[in-house]
Amino acid sequence: MKCAYCGNEAKATREHIISSCILDLFPECFLTIDENRKRIYSADPVINDVCADCNNNKLSYIDNNAKRIVQKYFVQSYDADDTVEIDYNYVLLQKILLKYAYNDLRSNHDDISYFNDEIIGFLLNQDDVTPKKEITILAGLAVNTSPVPDYMFGNIKLRWSKSPILLSNSIILNIDYETGQIFRREHLEVEKFEGLALSYIFRFGSGQFILLCWDKDCPNLETNLIVISVQYPYEILSKDSTITTIARCTDETTYHLFKLVDVNWGHGLSDEITHMRKLASNTCESAFSEMNVLWKKEEERIAREHKAGVIL
Ligand SMILES: [Zn+2]
Repeated sequence: MKCAYCGNEAKATREHIISSCILDLFPECFLTIDENRKRIYSADPVINDVCADCNNNKLSYIDNNAKRIVQKYFVQSYDADDTVEIDYNYVLLQKILLKYAYNDLRSNHDDISYFNDEIIGFLLNQDDVTPKKEITILAGLAVNTSPVPDYMFGNIKLRWSKSPILLSNSIILNIDYETGQIFRREHLEVEKFEGLALSYIFRFGSGQFILLCWDKDCPNLETNLIVISVQYPYEILSKDSTITTIARCTDETTYHLFKLVDVNWGHGLSDEITHMRKLASNTCESAFSEMNVLWKKEEERIAREHKAGVIL
């Protein structure tokens, strides 16, 4: 086998698509739900085309850092109005998301042409600490503000997908405040970003990230970034800083429909619906909270049963 990273002929080893040290932080999520292949299985998602040296040595600095940031900020859940100050290494974050995207593309036999020698070299070389200008990272908090608890959709805390749908107009068209009737937009309008070669969306617990890989000579990069910064409820991480405050980037629709990225004004409309529902269903709120307390206990039990190293 030819290693997907160093290109050497070597024996294949099992490379986790998302590092196993991150999977281990969420032992309660012990099943893999593969939406592309319509399968659910208990093994971790892996790909067998990486040599032992790359898997266990050359790339492990990326995995260790991914664990550090997720463990520090995103294992816990947040409330709708919380903000979190994260301290991060921008270059390492670029490498983490690029590596996971590359692994996922190969596992789906998808186009990997973006991962040329320069990008692969960037991943393999721990000492390469120059940020890639053509790679943008957006970050936010994933908070379930919907009336539907996570366990009703399989309690999926780790998710990733190619090509998130960045909308150009809101999912909700308008709300009739007299009657409470909600009007959805019939056809979702998608923003086109010229020069965007590849994009991915990731959720690690309560942390949500979008990876945008631009063509190297993308002429509109600055304009695209201005549109993104005013249009979406995400923070664009800066290569020049190590500390950023991030806030909720999901609303009651986009929290569950993970690939959809609504515009700021749609996010606001969706939050108004959440607020109106809470006002209208005051008495149901306590039943909902009780249910969540019970689920938390059950989740802790499942986590204990499936902790790494525990033999059932
Ligand atoms: Zn290798």
